[in-house]
Amino acid sequence: MAATEQTFDSLLTEDRAFPPPAEFAARANANDASIYARADADPEAYWADWSRRLHWFQPWDRVLDWQPPYAKWFVGGKLNAAYNCLDRHVEAGRGSRTALLWEGEPGDTRAYTYSDLHREVGRAANALKQMGVEKGDRVAIYLPMIPEAAIAMLACARIGAAHSVVFGGFSAESLRDRIRDAQAKVLITGDGGYRRGGVVPLKRAADEAVDEEGGCPSIQHVLVVRRHGAEGETVGGAQMKEGRDLWWHDVVEGASPDCPAEAMDSEDLLYILYTSGTTGKPKGIMHTTGGYLTQCLATTNLVFDLKDDDVYWCTADVGWVTGHSYIVYGPLANGATVLMYEGAPDAPDRGRFWKIVQDYGVTIFYTAPTAIRAFMKWGTEWPAKYDLSTLRLLGTVGEPINPEAWIWYHLNIGGGRCPIVDTWWQTETGAMMITPLPGITETVPGSATTPFPGIRADILSLKGECIPTGGGFLAIRRPWPSMLRGIWGDPQRFVDTYWSKWSGETVGSGEDGQPGESVYFPGDGAKRDERGYFWVIGRIDDVLNVAGHRIGTMEVESALVDHPSVAEAAVVGKAHELKGQAVAAFVTLKEGTEATEALKQELTEHVVRKIGAIARPDAILFAGDLPKTRSGKIMRRLLKDIAEGRALGDTTTLADPGVVARLKDEYEARGEG
Ligand code: ATP
Ligand code: MG
Repeated sequence: MAATEQTFDSLLTEDRAFPPPAEFAARANANDASIYARADADPEAYWADWSRRLHWFQPWDRVLDWQPPYAKWFVGGKLNAAYNCLDRHVEAGRGSRTALLWEGEPGDTRAYTYSDLHREVGRAANALKQMGVEKGDRVAIYLPMIPEAAIAMLACARIGAAHSVVFGGFSAESLRDRIRDAQAKVLITGDGGYRRGGVVPLKRAADEAVDEEGGCPSIQHVLVVRRHGAEGETVGGAQMKEGRDLWWHDVVEGASPDCPAEAMDSEDLLYILYTSGTTGKPKGIMHTTGGYLTQCLATTNLVFDLKDDDVYWCTADVGWVTGHSYIVYGPLANGATVLMYEGAPDAPDRGRFWKIVQDYGVTIFYTAPTAIRAFMKWGTEWPAKYDLSTLRLLGTVGEPINPEAWIWYHLNIGGGRCPIVDTWWQTETGAMMITPLPGITETVPGSATTPFPGIRADILSLKGECIPTGGGFLAIRRPWPSMLRGIWGDPQRFVDTYWSKWSGETVGSGEDGQPGESVYFPGDGAKRDERGYFWVIGRIDDVLNVAGHRIGTMEVESALVDHPSVAEAAVVGKAHELKGQAVAAFVTLKEGTEATEALKQELTEHVVRKIGAIARPDAILFAGDLPKTRSGKIMRRLLKDIAEGRALGDTTTLADPGVVARLKDEYEARGEG
């Protein structure tokens, strides 16, 4: 079918399907498919049930107040997120359970029970109070992946200050922008963190952020965790500034562990978090307390199927939303044992992750497609060296996963026995939205399958018509508890970005479309197959338009990754006189594969065979690396600049600007531009 301007072509088909293993399903937290119908019939009652598992200082009196696009969940309720992650378990006699297992990159380890963590959070909370932090203030956190990162977040939550965590790999300038935007009063950082054997000089970057180019006048104190240096010295020549800078071990370790948890309104701000910046300038996404915690609790419980004997490891950094919802709030609200690792997957060698799985007996493992593609590139010999038999469930998040990468993960990490949960969600949604339930859902590689119970997702045309099967714009049709409450300091951008794709009148032809219904637009293109499964096929901004066919990037990339020589691929549309756009492909080969002209030809034919002549790449460039954000996502808009011979656009959110500069040189040297 030729797509009109309203919709997208659907090219890729996938026949492999994986029902939940019987043994897994028998023990699963969710194994009765009627949960979907029940939640759908009365979503407010469904979410209310989950909210009752939390501890409320004062019960709410109304589930939802929906004044599109503004939602209030659990209206009138008072609770505290840190209390729910810690005190609730300690009071239930579960204080001696392990809450956090931590391993540093150099191999040092720490372990915290729920009682330990409760004490440390109380101390840090009192220290923040002594530094003048009050309910309603913002605190910036710029730390490596060390336990203090989680402790600092929970300490803020305990006293009702909102945290704004900034990924430790960000530059001083990015940190400065985020501190200024949020007007943070205190910055919590470290003297350095370990990464691939080296030390990231965080304090130096923090000083640069706070002191240079106008600095950050809102900052009153900088609290510094000693991770690396000896007493009195810090990494990279950074010094402690008298009066402003305080050592964590001086002020936290001596503070009282008793700090009452503030009773926060359900709608009080829990945190601000800036998006990854894949498409442009990051947005300060606001999350509040009651609804956010409820959906984190529910999704972690059902999607990760947490049990008392599980050791759960999410490899994300706390600087991203995944680290917020699925290292800290969701798992701790569930009383889980969480593993946290500081460093790189290839330090000291490419077996590090698998050694950690073996050493700790990890049972649930959650990572990103970018990591899985790196593992594929490195080869199967690394995981094969370790005993991964404790694993029982795998997860992925962050980008569409190419079916071949899914299969690789399934076979080489999951031993062919672990269900995979491909979870679609975003910083803005706060928690998972489209995902399998591992005891119920038959999974299909590349598809995030169906909306979580209580969530209503849809595929709409540009006009707002429901597309029952086929490709279009992904849409969320009713409010959900962990939805963003706004963009910090920019209410208009909130309305324009997420709530203005379809006007109320046009969205009315869906299953239950009410005239005037407000629909959330996440910015992704997706398709729905015959069985109702969702496939995210790429960002709307990245869609290709070849001879009138609108094609999502994921399908062409997946056809390339399907070839046994390919580890990773990115495709972009490049202006073409006749077709409108032609497909340009950037391809990373598995290690040990030779990059030849013949292979290019073979890959071109492979794409045509797999998904059709319409997607035939006009140009293929072999690339050692692809330009990625600091969270590891492919940045296609820069590849488009290269393919069209333009000057490169904004590269500030790139992990390594050198990658794209090198690719540009290569591309031009080959006369492909
Ligand atoms: P920005 O919004 O600043 O451009 P970003 O969208 O990369 O950055 P995040 O909120 O970290 O910021 O990422 C969410 C996006 O990641 C989703 O909108 C989607 O494009 C992609 N994504 C996440 N999980 C999945 C998944 N399981 N399948 C497909 N895509 C996914
Ligand atoms: Mg986004």
